[in-house]
Amino acid sequence: MSKLVLKTTGLTKRFGGLCAVDGVDLELKQNEVHAILGPNGAGKSTLVNLLSGDLAPTEGTVTLEGREITGLPSHKTSRLGIGRSYQKTNIFPGLTCGENIWLAAQSRQPTSLRFFRPASRMDDVRALMEASLSRCGLAHRADTPATAMSYGEQRQLEIGMMLATQPRLLLMDEPMAGMGQEESEMLVELIKTLAHDYTILLIEHDMDAVFAVAHRLTVMVNGRVLETGGPDQIRSSIQVQEAYLGSEARSLA
Ligand code: ADP
Ligand code: MG
Repeated sequence: MSKLVLKTTGLTKRFGGLCAVDGVDLELKQNEVHAILGPNGAGKSTLVNLLSGDLAPTEGTVTLEGREITGLPSHKTSRLGIGRSYQKTNIFPGLTCGENIWLAAQSRQPTSLRFFRPASRMDDVRALMEASLSRCGLAHRADTPATAMSYGEQRQLEIGMMLATQPRLLLMDEPMAGMGQEESEMLVELIKTLAHDYTILLIEHDMDAVFAVAHRLTVMVNGRVLETGGPDQIRSSIQVQEAYLGSEARSLA
């Protein structure tokens, strides 16, 4: 049994009368790619926001590696090892790909607010930047302005910036949205290799991509978990097929 990285118990978020996340119990194991499936409005992004600390839950708990982190804000969960990509808005358009990753890397250094930094620490930041660049597959793009890169590469850059904060758990909310077939396939391969070293929570609509990469899947409907299981179980689950996946799942099964 691999180690439990993250666990939620009865996690609930209400927005007024709407229960967007409703008593969710979720377990993420080390080095697993765990996909969350569900129709629009099922509560997937809200769940990610609760895990990253961008939203505080109404009820329930979140435990990271045995430590309760319920309600901690995102800058704290980030320091504790939860990485989250924030889509393009986080990229500085005036900077190169490498500079964007450099900024993310140095934001995590203890002396980032000081004007003078020891040279050795700057070397650490540079090494982290280079490792993150190559890890997200953009080593050849270090000096390219972020705005000159393709859409898919900009999404890769977001992942590189996330890696530069040295997380152990990656939260990815529809990283393939808007990508073409080739870019999606490339990202699937990247996620597969990242799973060797990270635990990954993946929200993704592209069923081919999800089933190609996920070790376990959780299906959410109306804020609740309908079912959690391996790819074969979820594919063949009649309950899931009828409630959500519909004809798409039948063709996959
Ligand atoms: P998904 O990501 O699965 O599409 P969301 O988590 O974005 O679903 O949304 C779940 C439900 O919560 C939806 O009905 C949505 O309209 C609602 N919701 C999400 N965020 C807020 C918010 N900040 N305030 C009010 N309602 C919200
Ligand atoms: Mg969403």
